[in-house]
Amino acid sequence: MALAVVIPVFNEEKGLDAHIREIDRVLNADGISHRFLLVDDGSRDRTWEVVRRLADELPNVSGIRFSRNFGKETAICAGLDAIDEDVYLVMDSDLQHPPRCVRGMLELLESSGADIVDGVKSFRGNESLKSKILARGFYGVLRALTGLDLDNSSDFKLLRRPVVDELRKMTEHNRFFRSLVDAVGFRRASFPFSVDDRDDGTSRFSTKRLLTLAFNAILSNTAMPLYLPFAFAFLCFLGALSDAVVMLVRAGTGSGVTGTMWLVLLALVLVSLVLVSLGVLGAYLARVYDEVKGRARYIVAERV
Ligand code: UDP
Ligand code: MG
Repeated sequence: MALAVVIPVFNEEKGLDAHIREIDRVLNADGISHRFLLVDDGSRDRTWEVVRRLADELPNVSGIRFSRNFGKETAICAGLDAIDEDVYLVMDSDLQHPPRCVRGMLELLESSGADIVDGVKSFRGNESLKSKILARGFYGVLRALTGLDLDNSSDFKLLRRPVVDELRKMTEHNRFFRSLVDAVGFRRASFPFSVDDRDDGTSRFSTKRLLTLAFNAILSNTAMPLYLPFAFAFLCFLGALSDAVVMLVRAGTGSGVTGTMWLVLLALVLVSLVLVSLGVLGAYLARVYDEVKGRARYIVAERV
């Protein structure tokens, strides 16, 4: 059986041909039998022509093309849907995920008995300060909200077929590949790699797209924000409580309780009640959200 190499590509007309040939050369040199599935994520340049030419010239290349840009996460999933093999490799097309690491990753897959090998960034390459700060902030928030530790994680992964079968069953539209892989479980092993520089220097992700991706990742991972009204209600309630204490003390010492104090107390109590009600709605909505995702209630990894 061959290794299925799934690669999402978007506006890569310049480097794609050389990059795929380089990956092909390295894998061949390492004796890894493989075939490519290139997913053109609705490129607006001549990427698809490059894919077609590669498919013409190399016997182990096939491709699919999206009707528009659906995003890298969706492109990866479409790639995994479209090819049947026992082991899958997901990687970027820009050689930032070094093909020389694949042999080591495959060896780790065998020796550790894992079903997933995660490429973990040990050196992030010469990322711009902006994307470093964004990545840090994003993963920090995500970890705080969901407990998912995605820092230094990447989409450079080996997956065995049972994992891909489970990923295929997930039908949600907003997806974040890394957290889906996290959600299916299975035995995992980490393979540290250092990110090579992109030769044309520019990421396909603008700051706006990165922020959208971050927002999506949080929304599709956790319903936590729906419970925020409870936290605000608690704060309002504390406010009401301190107001009441002040009023009691003043009444006790005879310095008088003003009408404003009553009004503030009433307002804070009412706002707390409204917020608690919102929190209750949020709690049910969170349940509905979980149910409509329709994820497997459990996943069996092995039987004897
Ligand atoms: N990509 C994609 N769809 C997009 C954006 C990017 O398929 O909407 C692909 C891109 O062609 C590349 C991979 O995803 O193969 C990673 O993109 P890039 O190198 O720009 O991201 P970065 O290295 O900055 O994470
Ligand atoms: Mg890149």
